[in-house]
Amino acid sequence: MPKYLPEPFRIKMVEPIRLISAEARKEALKNAGYNVFGLHSEDVYIDFMTDSGTSAMSQEQWSAMMLGDESYAGARSFYRLKVVMDEIFGFKHFVPTHQGRAAEGILSALLIKPGQFVPSNMHFDTTEGNIRARRGKPVNLIIDQAYNPATRLDFKGNMDIAKLKKFIRETGPENIPLGMITITNNAGGGQPVSMENLRQVSATYKEFDIPFFIDACRFAENAYFIKLREPGYEDKSPLEIAQEIFSLADGATMSAKKDGIVNIGGFLALNDDKLFESVRNELIMREGFPTYGGLAGRDLEAMAVGFMEALQVSYLEYRLGQTAYLGERLLEKGIQIIEPPGAHAIYIDAMKLLPHIPQRELPGQALSIAMYLEGGIRAVELGTVAFGYIDPDTGEEIFPRLDLVRMAIPRRVYTQSHLDYTVDILAEIAAKAESYRGFRIAYQPKLLRHFTARFEPL
Ligand SMILES: *Cc1c(COP(=O)(O)O)cnc(C)c1O
Repeated sequence: MPKYLPEPFRIKMVEPIRLISAEARKEALKNAGYNVFGLHSEDVYIDFMTDSGTSAMSQEQWSAMMLGDESYAGARSFYRLKVVMDEIFGFKHFVPTHQGRAAEGILSALLIKPGQFVPSNMHFDTTEGNIRARRGKPVNLIIDQAYNPATRLDFKGNMDIAKLKKFIRETGPENIPLGMITITNNAGGGQPVSMENLRQVSATYKEFDIPFFIDACRFAENAYFIKLREPGYEDKSPLEIAQEIFSLADGATMSAKKDGIVNIGGFLALNDDKLFESVRNELIMREGFPTYGGLAGRDLEAMAVGFMEALQVSYLEYRLGQTAYLGERLLEKGIQIIEPPGAHAIYIDAMKLLPHIPQRELPGQALSIAMYLEGGIRAVELGTVAFGYIDPDTGEEIFPRLDLVRMAIPRRVYTQSHLDYTVDILAEIAAKAESYRGFRIAYQPKLLRHFTARFEPL
């Protein structure tokens, strides 16, 4: 069995959880339209739906919150956050936002004109949604190996530089208002991007005069993978590596609900003075005054502490170790995951686990439902429901290349026994895989359909 590194903390406050009966779970699912987003969290035993905003804050973060300055303008808490922002990210300007998608929304509104393209290794769903909402086109140019779950690569989140250059030449840089990269690549297994690749991506965008924005949600986890795996970085601290990463970009969007280890928060950071003026105006309309941006002063304090805690080696070692433990144990049970395990989540290959369910019958959805029914575990489909869509030009249904179920691991929340229980439940599901059926969509909204769609069992 893989080794489990003890948590580098002890527990001072507890939140009770309980497993409701199988009958009650069945009823709860029916009421939720067979969409686990519709469940009441009280009816969930172990919640792997997301690592976003679900982390446990430290005593340092909670005590910093008591020092929050709630002034409307010029709050002390903003300037405390600014010191940390300058040290880690080093962009000329930043505004706090209430979460990552607000930063994406502002950036998309200001830069994207209808019909334009935004390349990335792989966009996350909210980024895709924000780009499409401006009638732009998100383009994923990740290396081909990323689509093969069993391929083990150190940096499986890398962009394919040849594809990127070809895409820019064929599309014309004038049709690309910004270029992005997501670190780590959430939609593709939480896989990291190497510094070498970031350097090449940066140079390519620069060559064509395309502003380069990093979706930085898991920058600390990505930095630690670089430290562990990339030659020349073994003696650098995660902070130094993060500084180098952001020195390559023109800006970043961030959900601090991830590597900020807070329950709410985010930012948009950038170097361009003129764009920043527009960002500020947009922010004031949507989020709030630039020194609080949709957050309370205490939230800014928690973020300032959280960014630094996320870069501690003892924390990152435990964090990556815990996720790897879950992933390796599932592999031992013959359950295919995206290999190697990423930092924040384990992604199960649902088409491999339920091969008798065709993709149009939503195998990922079927697996997420099975996990709740069998064990009260909540995990989220990232497959045909989340990423499939109807092509507006051809009316054709487009399927993603993988149908995944993501178990995202909240930071500092669950222990080894929770993970062992999860492995047992998944092994039980695998043992009677043929007994599960597919689903059809009964209702779907126009964008980001997986959050509110309703389903019917086939
Ligand atoms: C969570 C996430 C976002 C969006 O952030 P929110 O805080 O949920 O709005 C964007 N990109 C990636 C890669 C994410 O993981």
